[in-house]
Amino acid sequence: MSIRERAGKPRSLRLAGGRVIDPASGRDAVGDLYLHEGKVADPAQFPHVQWEEIDVRGKIVAPGLIDVHVHLREPGGSHKETIRTGTRAAAAGGFTSIVAMPNTKPVADGTNTIAWLRQRIEADALVNVYPTGCISQGMAGEALAPIGSLKKAGVVAITDDGHCIQNNDLMRRALEYAAMFDLPLLDHCQDYALTADGVMHEGYWSTVLGLRGWPSLGEEIIVGRNAMLAEKTGATILCQHLSSAGSVRILREAKKRGIPLHGEAMPHHLLLTDATVQGYDTNFKMNPPLRTEADRQALLEGVADGTIGVLASDHAPHALFEKEVEFDRAPFGIIGLETELAVFAQALIEPKVIDWPTLVSRLTIEPARVLRLDQLGKGSLALGGDADVTVIDPSLEWVVDAAKFESLSRNCPFDKMPLRGRAVLTIVGGEIVWRL
Ligand SMILES: [Zn+2]
Repeated sequence: MSIRERAGKPRSLRLAGGRVIDPASGRDAVGDLYLHEGKVADPAQFPHVQWEEIDVRGKIVAPGLIDVHVHLREPGGSHKETIRTGTRAAAAGGFTSIVAMPNTKPVADGTNTIAWLRQRIEADALVNVYPTGCISQGMAGEALAPIGSLKKAGVVAITDDGHCIQNNDLMRRALEYAAMFDLPLLDHCQDYALTADGVMHEGYWSTVLGLRGWPSLGEEIIVGRNAMLAEKTGATILCQHLSSAGSVRILREAKKRGIPLHGEAMPHHLLLTDATVQGYDTNFKMNPPLRTEADRQALLEGVADGTIGVLASDHAPHALFEKEVEFDRAPFGIIGLETELAVFAQALIEPKVIDWPTLVSRLTIEPARVLRLDQLGKGSLALGGDADVTVIDPSLEWVVDAAKFESLSRNCPFDKMPLRGRAVLTIVGGEIVWRL
């Protein structure tokens, strides 16, 4: 397996004999896909090109996968992850485009930080990286960040991820600006009063283990607020990392009524429950926390019926010394880019909750539409579109070895887990960036 640096020279590739799945166009058939000059090409238009053939029989040829929830930790957290290492982890996981959260040090609440970030991305990133900006200054939830200037500086969305604006009037004004500038708002749904000092799901296991609970209600009440505010303002809200059955129900009702409210689910919430916290392993501590089997089942149903249209990792790197402390004191979050696809396959495909075309859709065109990345040519295999492609071997069996990750961090609850399905070839702009 290897990472290839980008040389700025797209190749003329014929991906031969794979199952080409492009949910945006409904294409799902065995055939060839041609890439030329960094774009998806029609070979009839290029009769003199010498195509370099790659045999992908038995594999899935998908639009480059998109992860809209990644923490790259730069600036200020480069002992956890950098743009360089984080985008290598993305390439190894099959992701060609990622959206970076702004809770860095300093936070990305102004145009200077965004300009700095874009330079670093240009210099260091192996895959496409789209920055986001903060909703509030300093992510303090007190005054709005300069949302119009952030949009001009190139952010694709605004979010205070890691924090949640508690003041509903401020949130309303943020959404009015977001609607005006056509920027989606990504919300980390957490009511602070209800979740104060909570470190795991409030329920049976928190009582048994003697740990402070973070109740489902702490998420649901904000999802409910967001439904009302999205309806009032017409702004698009993506409720991030949904974890509870009640959230899925509120979102389902809101979508039925045509409210521009969307939901996102993470691999860990779809595969694991709060029972895994028994060993006090801090790699099972995340925000929002792992919940009950009933919540997990509701999330699976939400993904199956399309209530939850966005799947992403919440890749949240932390150094070993930060995670190797008492459960109460450890930071929330786990890494996800390099296991995400296989964990989604384990949680969703193996038990036949959804099929591969639906999984590909939830990882490509659906998140692309919510964040308007489809307008930038991402999320599909349309002719003339960007040659971002992920080739997946759906039957490849492998065992997770966190020690071998491209990511700088190792905080992974799936270490040593046998999984099936993996990206074997990742292509960005016609260049191979990862090959297994
Ligand atoms: Zn979050």
